[in-house]
This record gives sequence, structure tokens and C-alpha cells, in this order.
Amino acid sequence: MKLLIKNGTIVTLGQPNKMLHDYAILCEDGLIKSIAPSKTFTGTYDKVIDAAGKVVMPGFINAHMHFYSTMVRGFGRVAPSKDFNEVLNNLWWKLDRKLTVEDSYYSALIPLIDAVRHGTTTLIDHHASPFAATGSLAKIAEAVKEIGLRASLCYEVSDRDGEAIAEAGLKENADFIAYCNKKNDNQLKALFGLHASFTVSDKTLEKAVQLAKELNAGFHVHTAEAKSDEDHCEQHHGMRIVERFNKFGVLGSQSIAAHCVHVNEREMELLASTGTAVVHNPQSNLNNAVGVADLIKMAAKGVLIGLGTDAMTVNMMEEVRVAMWAQHLGQNNPSVGFMETLSALLFNNAKIANRYWKPFLGELKEGYAADIVLIDYDPPTLFDETTFLGHLAFGISQSVVDTTIAGGRVLMENRKLKMNIDEARINARSRELANELWKRI
Ligand SMILES: [Zn+2]
Repeated sequence: MKLLIKNGTIVTLGQPNKMLHDYAILCEDGLIKSIAPSKTFTGTYDKVIDAAGKVVMPGFINAHMHFYSTMVRGFGRVAPSKDFNEVLNNLWWKLDRKLTVEDSYYSALIPLIDAVRHGTTTLIDHHASPFAATGSLAKIAEAVKEIGLRASLCYEVSDRDGEAIAEAGLKENADFIAYCNKKNDNQLKALFGLHASFTVSDKTLEKAVQLAKELNAGFHVHTAEAKSDEDHCEQHHGMRIVERFNKFGVLGSQSIAAHCVHVNEREMELLASTGTAVVHNPQSNLNNAVGVADLIKMAAKGVLIGLGTDAMTVNMMEEVRVAMWAQHLGQNNPSVGFMETLSALLFNNAKIANRYWKPFLGELKEGYAADIVLIDYDPPTLFDETTFLGHLAFGISQSVVDTTIAGGRVLMENRKLKMNIDEARINARSRELANELWKRI
């Protein structure tokens, strides 16, 4: 399959980022084969997309997501929560305990379709369904394959529902990681999922680290999301969360620590020295009123900071704007956070994804994955490498994704989905399942 995207304004997001006007990209076998001026492509192609008037960029990456939250949309029977622990107890843990494997599958399909619409082509997910853990990741993987995007999956191990459930979670991670290692499928990757310090015992942590080591996998774990998690760790383990994770061997260049809202300077230094990626989720943090992570200090200490949505959206351009405003407010300074937040989305998420994926993602470059989005955008001011970030934050983000390509496959064109799916049937089945689920909660 030879796909040519011509006449667009190409934004490479390389180092340095280049903007190429009236260039074309030839994609072949899921990869970017060549990038050159449009007029140099004179051969025959299976498909040609005219990108005139459009910005052509790498697909976005969402570095922390929970597909399973889909069926809570509109669910109103939730007791008011005065803090983060009550949010978990009153809503999320009530929901995830009642999920079936089929619920998990439909909960993944819907945000994956939405991701295609918003140009997000890779998602790093964290799944929980404690009473239907076994086989859940394989079923979510089916949804990922059906939609045609890329995802890293993991199962959220915790001791909150007792030892047998913790064991089932450990096994679900191990089984899925072993499957991914064997398959070597460039759409699917796996991490070892842990819920958070305050819900995982030393014994479970030891078992998880042992299994992850055997399988050569990194971790994906919520870290210091709320202050109560740090307080719990100091009271029960006599140390800070990142110190505890470091002691057990959870950190490292294959691991993701989501949130890190309440880490102190010593913890930031540990995250930096171990190469652990931090994923910032500002909309979720604001929604749960847990605080604003200090991205400025973390970035200055050399921490690799990515951007996720924690299931608040799959629209990464929305998330990055909130990330900026949250830094302004958190630092009480309207002049900070622009570079840190935009770099997190546009460059660091690719660095994180490229610890797992090959071919590499997140840059328009020969040999890289053909994960490409086309966005309608006719700039009203100078549009070049020096102004691109401002255009993304204030202009491109307000435009519409027109075309989404993943692995060289056109999943959406002219805002119409091209996958072989029946979206109305999927939504209808989701409503049926959600109806049953809400009765069980
Ligand atoms: Zn999360």
C-alpha cells in the first residue's frame, strides 16, 4: 500500500522541529518512506491525499489513560466526595468492581474511536476491573486492533480487594506481557500495572517486581497523586513514595509514574536519576482537587515529563492547554510553563513511547511509523518554526482534525471514519451494558 500525502504544511516535530511547506510524505508498509517537495512525486500510488490548507503532523500520544471510565459518563448517583480517597471510594472503585470483560471491551472501543476523531494515535492505558481481571487485557487489545491504533496496556494491581484479587491482577499483567513479548506486535505493548503506593502491600510489590523482572517489563503506577498517598507512605513505611518504589525496584527508564503532584525535591531527583518518566494529567488533578504538579522544578531537575489525560478526554490539544493554565495558576506566574507543557505533549510523549515502540513514533521522519494527522488550519499570522508552538496552543488546537492515519492506514478522512466498524451498533451495545452496570453499582 503506497499512500501519498501531498501539498501540506509538514511539521516534523524532530529536533529541531522543521516546517516544510508544499511537501509530500510517501508512506509504505506502515512506515514513512520519504519526505520531499510535492512536485518530486510523479509515480503512481494506491492512494493520494491532498493536504492543501492543512497542517500535517505526527499523531498525538496520550501517555496516561483509563479506557474503563467510559461507562460512568452521566452516572449521577455518586455521593459527594470531600477528598481524593472519597472520589475513589464513592465512584471509581464502585464502578470498576462491577465491570465485566465485555464492559471493558466496549469501554475501550468508544474512546479509541474518539481518539481517531481527535488525532490521538497512541494511548498508554491503565485498566482496572478487579472482579473480571482475567482476560480483560486481551479483550481490550482486540478493541485496539479493531480500531487500528496503538496502545500499551496494563492491569492495575492492588490489595484493596484482598489477596486473591491481587494475585489475579499480578497474573493478568504477567500473562499479557508474556503474550506481547511473544507476539512482538507493533500496535500492542504492555507494562506492569500497579494502582498506587497506598493500595499495594510490600508483599504484593515484591511479587510484582519479581514478575516484571522476569518478563523484562517496566511499571505504570499512580504516584503521589494526592497528598494522602504520601502521608500514608510516611506513616506505614517510614519513607516517601518514590523512595519506596525505588527501594523495591519499580523505577527505571521503562517505567511511568503518573501524576507526581506531591513529590518533594529528593523524589524528583530519584525520578530523574532512575530515568523514570513522569506523566502529568492536569485536567484530572484539577477535577479531583489534588493540586498542581510542579513541572517547572521537575523539568529543571531533568525529569522526563509527558502528558496524559487520565481519561478526562482523548483530545490532547485540549489537555495541553489546561496544562499551561494549571502551571500559571499553580506557580502564580502567567509567564511560566509554556515550553514545559508543550514539550511534554509534542516531544516528551514521543520519547516515552519510543522506549517501547519500534518503529519509532511521534516524528515525521523517514523510517518512522506512518502515524499522521491532518488538521485544517489557515494561519492568520507568520507560521514557521519560531511561531509554531503558539499556533498549536491558540490556533491549531481550536481547529478540527480532518484525517487520521495510523500505521499507514487511513482511519479517518475528511472527518469521516474509514474503519470497518459499525459505530451506531457499538454505542447502542454500550448503552445496554451501561444500563445493566449502573443497576449493579
Ligand atoms: Zn490514572
